[in-house]
Amino acid sequence: MKNTMSDRNRTLRGLPSVEKILQALPPRALPRPLITDEVRKEIAALRKETDIPPIEAIIARVIARIDKRLCSALQPVINGTGVVIHTNLGRAPLAEPAIDAMVEVARRYNNLEFDLNTGKRGSRGVEIENRIALLCGAEASTVVNNCASALVLILRHFTAGDKKEVIISRGELVQIGGGFRIPDILETSGAVLREVGTTNRTSLADYENAIGPQTALILKVHRSNFYMDGFVDSAVPEELTALAKKKRIPLVEDLGSGAMVDTGKIPGVAHEPTPSEVRRSGVDVCCFSGDKLLGGPQAGLIIGKKRHIRGIKKNPFFRALRCDKLILAALAATVDLYIEGLQKGQQEKLSALPHLRIMNTTVEQLTERAENIMRRISDEISVKIIQTSSKVGGGTLPRAAIPSVGLSFKPRNGSAQDLATVMRDWETPIIGYINGKNFVVDLRTVFPTEDETLAAALNALLGSNHA
Ligand SMILES: *Cc1c(COP(=O)(O)O)cnc(C)c1O
Repeated sequence: MKNTMSDRNRTLRGLPSVEKILQALPPRALPRPLITDEVRKEIAALRKETDIPPIEAIIARVIARIDKRLCSALQPVINGTGVVIHTNLGRAPLAEPAIDAMVEVARRYNNLEFDLNTGKRGSRGVEIENRIALLCGAEASTVVNNCASALVLILRHFTAGDKKEVIISRGELVQIGGGFRIPDILETSGAVLREVGTTNRTSLADYENAIGPQTALILKVHRSNFYMDGFVDSAVPEELTALAKKKRIPLVEDLGSGAMVDTGKIPGVAHEPTPSEVRRSGVDVCCFSGDKLLGGPQAGLIIGKKRHIRGIKKNPFFRALRCDKLILAALAATVDLYIEGLQKGQQEKLSALPHLRIMNTTVEQLTERAENIMRRISDEISVKIIQTSSKVGGGTLPRAAIPSVGLSFKPRNGSAQDLATVMRDWETPIIGYINGKNFVVDLRTVFPTEDETLAAALNALLGSNHA
């Protein structure tokens, strides 16, 4: 009652009703209650103002609110940053077979936990576990939500008994990404950190001297997102595995990226250790991401000795980290591409993986696309084809610089920042980067099928009617 009274008072002062604004709004792709919500918020804001603007201005403000909300919804964008595995832009795009597998499983019932051989309850994800193990040449494997949770789970498993200490080199006490610091992860897992060596040098003896009755495991963390040079040394992997074996202490490696192919073959990129190589070096358990250089959905893959994997899966925490059926479907299809591509020699299977295609596109191919786009856009637009350098991203291969090609725009009016803003406002938002006074779109990470959208956006935003 009270609200109605005050609404009426305000109406007298010229504040329109929710209903009136709703009727005047042009259609917007948002559920009605969310639109009403924005209208109410705008009215609440207007109440605090001394002068009520004309209805047209109020409508415009509501539209701006709704559009802002639409922008925040998850939607496709054009990645012109040149960063192939961009964590802020969703990391790896999925291969078509992975997308198809997800759609098939999503639409109907499936045998997620049903054994078709016995007709009884089955175990979730057994087949994908077998395939990952096969691909990596490991005894066993399992999958959880992401690499961070894989690491927590592994640590929980090995520190569940009396032994709590985790030996780790000071050179590997790293921060991986937003809010993922190895020491914090250890702490939340109930492990006790036992740092050895120094930032730049950790020897085999450092590890050996730290081993005692409290030692639960030795942890190696791949330095995926930074590089150290100069007076740097770390224990030789083979010697470390021999030491762990001799002392009967599990050796665990957090590998991070999980590249399956030799990244050293890509121009400008170094070799990234693969899970198979890590396993062959004698590591007992290794974990890596599903959506970095593997090119699959978000997941944390764990490979290792059968008894360790069995133990890890028995940990009560495992249930809390299990993967959804859509993820398992997409991951299985992704892993199959590698099995066929790498073990059956069907190279074309690997080119179904967008991130590998993106990294293997030649500068000539990119130049041709850049010239095509140039032909499609208005002459008045101030644009140049430039040499750029793409990055692998996703906290991997920090020094990689893949020679690439970009389109560089000099805004006629306004700043490069303004241009970046209008590009983000396009129907399919275009994300580039700023280089001095220019706005740059690196074509390596733009899908060829997006070239036309890009050209259309450029004409509309930078052509004679605009900018
Ligand atoms: C990226 C990364 C992680 C985290 O992986 P998520 O799948 O994002 O959880 C953990 N460890 C290392 C070494 C990494 O590079």
